[in-house]
Amino acid sequence: MTHRPHPMEPSLSPSLPALKAQFAQIVDEVVAPRAAAVDAGCHWPRESLEAFAAAGLAGLQVPTHLGGHGGGLGELLMATELIGAACPSSALCFGMHCVGTAVIAAKATPWQEEHYLRPIAAGRHLTTLALSESGSGAHFYLPGTTLTPAGPDFLVDGVKQFVTNGGHADSYVISTLSAGADAGDFSCLVVDAGTPGIEWLAPWEGFGMRGNSSRGMRLSGAPVPSDRLLGEHGDQVWYVFEVVAPYFLMAMAGTYLGVAQSALDAAGEHLRNRSYAHSGESLRDVETLQTRYAEMWMAVEKTRALVYEAARRGDAGDPDALPYILACKADAGDTAVHLANEAMTICGGAAYRDNSRVAQMLRDARASHVMSPTTDLLRLWTGRSLLGLPLL
Ligand SMILES: Cc1cc2nc3c(=O)[nH]c(=O)nc-3n(C[C@H](O)[C@H](O)[C@H](O)COP(=O)(O)OP(=O)(O)OC[C@H]3O[C@@H](n4cnc5c(N)ncnc54)[C@H](O)[C@@H]3O)c2cc1C
Repeated sequence: MTHRPHPMEPSLSPSLPALKAQFAQIVDEVVAPRAAAVDAGCHWPRESLEAFAAAGLAGLQVPTHLGGHGGGLGELLMATELIGAACPSSALCFGMHCVGTAVIAAKATPWQEEHYLRPIAAGRHLTTLALSESGSGAHFYLPGTTLTPAGPDFLVDGVKQFVTNGGHADSYVISTLSAGADAGDFSCLVVDAGTPGIEWLAPWEGFGMRGNSSRGMRLSGAPVPSDRLLGEHGDQVWYVFEVVAPYFLMAMAGTYLGVAQSALDAAGEHLRNRSYAHSGESLRDVETLQTRYAEMWMAVEKTRALVYEAARRGDAGDPDALPYILACKADAGDTAVHLANEAMTICGGAAYRDNSRVAQMLRDARASHVMSPTTDLLRLWTGRSLLGLPLL
């Protein structure tokens, strides 16, 4: 059975309970039953994403006047936690669509509202974020992909790596460097699927998050009309730290909080149900395991409190929200890896055998530490922000 987040968690907006019920139903009926096959076959979770779109949930981050839900960080956290507890790959795919949507919505022109945001809200358009490149790795805010003016268009050249929803999205929010610009002085733009000059590299067969189709994308002289440019020149740092980082970090914190909760649930289920034939003793009666289980529960509850506090402060525009937002993905990733590891121990051979659901949690949770901003970078930035230093 799919986990339902704790009833004591803070409610973030009046519309949240109704939205949550919609997400929960789709998670139970569509996402959870397909999770094992998504992982085993590296299947991109098309049915799940189509179900969210058909229910009118793809526009979670689209403003209400354009047909969306006008959600903030709290709505994104709620959705990714629910989905992540059942299928982390699906949470990553849906989450990156929401992050891409938030980036487009932040400073959308009327044309972009009609061509991207209304179709997203209507469930007819899937987007995603393609920032990372092998040249700058974890330093995702330093693109090497170039943007060259060519008449009314731009020509884009470069290779993006790890593009979630790669090959399946209708558009890709990418970062590019204008000719002659300084490193870090980049522009964001939306590239439509089907643009000439796009080539998809090898299919994704990850250690975990196996359904997210995180592929490489080569752009060779790809023509992109100038009306796809997001914001204005000089907006790049604003986009990265005001939009990309909070929405991305919240989507990932929700996903890994969901993984941590499902690891706790799996451990609890095994402790309650496993007993020995020779003695009749239940694992639930073993003191060492009672203590381990208590520590797992404490870790999840502490992480949940931090993550929801980060979302609450971020949505309220609290000037002190930054360290909470930076820390929440690092903490959720740590907790997910730790709890999946603990669940592997508590569930014994049953979990280790056959690449079980708990084994999948452990593999999926490990992505948290390498997805940028990585855990180490986030700890560094949290410390710097608390000490009043610039993050970079
Ligand atoms: C499942 C998955 C999905 C992804 N989806 C997307 C996506 O949708 N869009 C997107 O743009 N990207 C995506 N990424 C890419 C991701 O965000 C990272 O950019 C990428 O994983 C970095 O990989 P790398 O091998 O180049 O890391 P490297 O740059 O080689 O880094 C290796 C390690 O060194 C550490 N490190 C590097 N510099 C420092 C430093 N100064 N201080 C401390 N530690 C440092 C890093 O933290 C990391 O742990 C995804 C990645 C994964 C695994």
